[in-house]
Amino acid sequence: MALTERTLLGPGPSNPYPEATAGLAAPLLGHLDPEFIAVLERTCERLRATWGTDNPVTLPLSGTGSIGMEAAFANTVRPGDVVVVAVNGLFGVRMCEVAGRYGAEVVRVDHTWGEPVDVERVVTAHPSPALVAAVHAETSTGVRSDIAGLGAALRRRHPEALLLADCVTSLGGIEVAVDEWGVDIAYSGTQKCLGVAPGLAPFTFSERAWERRVEIPPVWYLDLGLLGGYVRGGPGGRAYHHTAPVAMIASLEAGLARIHEEGLGSVTERHEAAGRRLQDGLREMGLELFAAEGHRLPQLTSVRVPEGVDSAKVREQLLTDYGIEIGAGAGDYANSVWRIGLMGHNARLDRAELVLTALRRVLG
Ligand code: PLP
Repeated sequence: MALTERTLLGPGPSNPYPEATAGLAAPLLGHLDPEFIAVLERTCERLRATWGTDNPVTLPLSGTGSIGMEAAFANTVRPGDVVVVAVNGLFGVRMCEVAGRYGAEVVRVDHTWGEPVDVERVVTAHPSPALVAAVHAETSTGVRSDIAGLGAALRRRHPEALLLADCVTSLGGIEVAVDEWGVDIAYSGTQKCLGVAPGLAPFTFSERAWERRVEIPPVWYLDLGLLGGYVRGGPGGRAYHHTAPVAMIASLEAGLARIHEEGLGSVTERHEAAGRRLQDGLREMGLELFAAEGHRLPQLTSVRVPEGVDSAKVREQLLTDYGIEIGAGAGDYANSVWRIGLMGHNARLDRAELVLTALRRVLG
């Protein structure tokens, strides 16, 4: 059955790059086929370039962004470890939940939603954290936090602590520089700015994190030691761990090739220009942006629903009349905020104009 084509301008998934879609339709190879192993190696190499890292442990994990979060904590947290989590939206809350399940003593540093992470408050939250975690691009609010600043402050105050960054909505959309910023562990998702369907979690893990990793994590599927036996091979060759999602990896490779062909700098400028146009246009319509000024993500715009307007009805009309999906707000803002994504292939001026025009018509 043919499905309807939509313009996906919500918080994800976004419409994939055509190259990534074509990658999905490539002939299926076995996961140990030398041709596929070459695809996997190129994918890991392209991921390193995208993350800005030399970390040997850089790979696409099988699963969506949340599996990256899970793997991050599963491989680093021992019961009783102090994990400081900066919470300025839904995904910070989720990190607390996940870290807690691995036995962490979670120190939660709450911020007002819509505000960026306050670096000073986070680094002074505990005298000796084992791990400090923050979300780079909070999809629930449209806010960018200063991970470079957090990394620098952490190195000064707690040089022993590991830094974990959630880059699900940032990678491929705004600058991410894992090595330069001192990030030890980072994960992303394919369905946002990387412009690929949901299904993989690009992941990177520093050598420092590797030395201190949990040798036998409580989750077999996410054991980085075992996964390395397949992704990087060992003395006896590549060991089967689980059947790699070959079609998704081929698609990711094609999406990354597309991004690097355009150039990472041009890709981030394209996101910046599209986001600016959308945010200017929304303000020209008299709408109020939700995220704090100066910290707004170009790829994900949060905007307040005007007084007296039925938020769900507007979204429904955009979907049925214009084939455009936008997102509701998250948490307490479910009915009072809309979230509009211009990510990956959709980070374009024409998409910004399209959603502005449709919204203008629907709002009358
Ligand atoms: N972290 C952030 C910042 C996200 O935006 C999301 C998804 O929207 C996730 C984590 C979880 O990713 P997924 O829904 O792909 O499992």
